[in-house]
Amino acid sequence: AMKLAERVVQLKPSASIVARQRVLELQAAGETIIDLTIGEPDLDTPAHIVEAAFAAVNAGDTHYTVPPGTPALRKAIIAKLQRDNGLDYAMNEVIVGVGAKQLIYEAFAASLDTGDEVIVPAPYWVSYPDIATIHDGTPVIVDCPEVDGFKLTAKALEAAITPNTKWLVLNSPNNPSGAVYSREELEALAQVLRQAPHVWLMTDEIYEHLTYDGVTAISLVEAAPDLKDRTLIVNGVSKAYAMTGWRIGYAAGPSDIIAAMVKLVGQSTSCASSVSQAAAAAALSGDQACVAEATEIFRQRRDRMFEILDGTPGLAVRKPDGAFYFYPSVAGLIGKTTPQGKVLQSDLDVSLYLLEAAHVAVLDGGAYGMSPYLRMSFGGAMADIEVGCHAIRKACEELV
Ligand code: PLP
Repeated sequence: AMKLAERVVQLKPSASIVARQRVLELQAAGETIIDLTIGEPDLDTPAHIVEAAFAAVNAGDTHYTVPPGTPALRKAIIAKLQRDNGLDYAMNEVIVGVGAKQLIYEAFAASLDTGDEVIVPAPYWVSYPDIATIHDGTPVIVDCPEVDGFKLTAKALEAAITPNTKWLVLNSPNNPSGAVYSREELEALAQVLRQAPHVWLMTDEIYEHLTYDGVTAISLVEAAPDLKDRTLIVNGVSKAYAMTGWRIGYAAGPSDIIAAMVKLVGQSTSCASSVSQAAAAAALSGDQACVAEATEIFRQRRDRMFEILDGTPGLAVRKPDGAFYFYPSVAGLIGKTTPQGKVLQSDLDVSLYLLEAAHVAVLDGGAYGMSPYLRMSFGGAMADIEVGCHAIRKACEELV
């Protein structure tokens, strides 16, 4: 066998792989499993966006584009940042990628040297520490307990910063906790960051529009404009416009890091799909009613999920302010015994029990860096939420 690169060997497959394997086994045995693990909207991409893609194909828009993205899409991104966030960026300060994920990848590739530290508040989207590790960076995980609303406090940030800190990654609304930072909370973090001018900020705003009950997500740069010259905003069309498969994300930041990322895009994917870029431009500059409609659908799913799960023994359920995940504590289930006589010892055990007893797949908090919790998605159909949550409730009631 080939001797693989050390940085790849170091990447540990998450424990959730065990649960994923069991889902496949049960499905192969003919069982129906309700999947509450999904990280994307089940909605169709809005028609006017799909039409823009067809129009692009028919117009012969089927060639390589320039690596940073078509001028039309970059102009649409600049206009979006102005319209929604009140921020001004120039053409050489934005870049298009194959999903937001590619841009996180290229930003770390462009900036990390061995030993550079990346502060990642937990619970976190699992890709940040893994992508930092791939580029020889050192993830520094900072616990953000539920009592703090799963949010990074100024005090915890201050304690985590060292001379080697290169980046702080901030994801609001957050996957998996749904936490949304308020302006005051961002200002408090900014206050600490001003004392640490060597630290760069990566703000992952991919769930920006998916907030509920009057909560709005603002960018760190809106709260602290003086930090704009060391902030990389990462965003994309995947979640807001149900466009995960089109693979278009974008980033905005100072021209020197953007230029370095453009070089890397030029030597990896060359550019994002020309057709998808045309669709994304239509998404960002077209009628935004589809975003409000999607958000309303998610709000109804969230409220229904809460209604069914609230009061389930052992499950501490709270409605998330944003994104489309519940992240209930299952501390109350640890130590309980299943009807088969097994004692639940971790959130992974709980997720495996729910799979066997309720035929519902959820993800364990361990995969997101904070236990004992479960991540339950309401990105999927209402019917699945109905059936899945009732089954979860019943399975929890059967524990002793
Ligand atoms: N950031 C977060 C927090 C996510 O949850 C996801 C997708 O799950 C992404 C980024 C990646 O999005 P994209 O489809 O644009 O690569």
